[in-house]
Order: sequence, then structure tokens, then C-alpha cells
Amino acid sequence: MTDPLASITRSPQPAGPPVGLDQRHPLEVSELRQLWSMLDGGAIMVVEVRHRLWRSWGLCPRHGWGFLAMEVELRGGHPLTSTVLVEDLVGRAVRAVRRAFGRPLSGPRRLLGTRASCLTCDFVDLVRRGGEGNPLARPTREWLDRMRPLPALAATSALLAATEREWRPRACPGCLAGGGPLCRPHLLAGSVSLDDRRRTLAALEDLSGRLTRYGRSMTWRGPAARPEDRAALVEGLAWTGGWRAPLGLLAGREAAAGPERHV
Ligand SMILES: [Zn+2]
Ligand SMILES: [Zn+2]
Repeated sequence: MTDPLASITRSPQPAGPPVGLDQRHPLEVSELRQLWSMLDGGAIMVVEVRHRLWRSWGLCPRHGWGFLAMEVELRGGHPLTSTVLVEDLVGRAVRAVRRAFGRPLSGPRRLLGTRASCLTCDFVDLVRRGGEGNPLARPTREWLDRMRPLPALAATSALLAATEREWRPRACPGCLAGGGPLCRPHLLAGSVSLDDRRRTLAALEDLSGRLTRYGRSMTWRGPAARPEDRAALVEGLAWTGGWRAPLGLLAGREAAAGPERHV
């Protein structure tokens, strides 16, 4: 029987979908180790890490979706940490777009652009440049066993498919011809009319409210999550980095549409 961990460790013949959004480039052990340190080690709640994630608007699409997949697959399908992070970023986006009103049309570009690189990308780069001495770069067999459910991405695919009816109509017009807000990469990519800003602000305010409710639904005595609240996590993460990554994850292959660079 083929070892399902093969796709984590870059086997030339991976078993099943890779732990990543692009079958040609599955996530490496160093990427998974860094994401796990943020999820299980609680690093994502450290003030300095949070400030860095504010400046970079979260992780890049590859690692942002990798982080969500890791939480969904390994934490019983309750992505509270991802929801808290995305709610925080979308809340900041609402305030940034509000501030952009009344300023020259270059305002969104300055307020919504990244001012730091992706934390996970930086760690992988460090390991590649000879930082194997970092204990995070050396997986144990026990740790690899904990990653065992990841390659199938069963819960993540199920989450995307179950919420698609909600998120697809609210997707970015530029990425998916949806009726939702322009995603952050598309807001940065071109000139944004006043009407675009108004629509974006209203959609982001609605998204922020649904993310808050979804987060609260995972806490003691919180409200029940509605379908549109569960979809808000997909929409929020896609807003920060574009819709190419979730489409690729849903299809089990690299999708053809939408920007993917970390901008
Ligand atoms: Zn990255
Ligand atoms: Zn877009």
C-alpha cells in the first residue's frame, strides 16, 4: 500500500492529491512545520507575529490556504484560528477602505498593499539557505504521523463544496465574475472607481459581520452558524489573496483564473 505521506515528502509518485494547491508543487515538510508551529504552537497569537501578518495581509495564498487546510483536516473541521485571523484582516480592510474614501484614487493601493513578506515563505527560504539547524526543519516520525490525514484534503474539499452555493455568487468580479467585493489583488491591480469602493466597502462590512458570527459559533453558547457564515471564511481568505487558490483546491488541480502572487 502506498504511504499517504509520500505527497508531503515530495515523492516522485505522490499518492492522491498533494497537500497544496498545485499538484506540481506540493507543500514541503519545512512549509508544513512552520504552519504547524503557528497553529499548534500558538505562534499566530503572538503580538509580533500578528503585527507582521497585518503588514503582509496574512500569509501568501499558497500558505494561507495551506494553513486553513491544516486546521480543517487536523482540528476536527472547526477552523477557529483561521477564522479569527481572517476576521481580523477583513476588519482592518473595512477600516482601510473607509479611510480611502475622500482621498485620491491611489488611496486603496497605499492602504491595502503589503509591507512585509509571507512568514512561511521566509522560513522556507531560511531552511533552503542552510538553516536545517532550526528544530522546526527536522520532522520526527511522530510528527509525520500527525500529518497523515492531510494529503487527502477530504474535510477541506468538503467545506469548499458545501459552501460553494454561498461563496460563488459573492466572489470577486475580476476573478470569478461574481457579485462580491473586488479582491485585494484586484483592488491593487487597477484604478478603482468611487462606485467600486462603495460596493467593496458594503460587501466587506457584510463579510466582516458574518466572519464574527462564524467565529462566535465555535465558542461556548455562541449562535448557530448559518450557511453564509461558514462561507465567509472562504470569502475572507480569498479576498486577501484572490480566488485562484480555492478554485484549485476545490478542483484538486491548479486553476487557470485569477491572480496568485502575494501582492
Ligand atoms: Zn508564503
Ligand atoms: Zn479578484
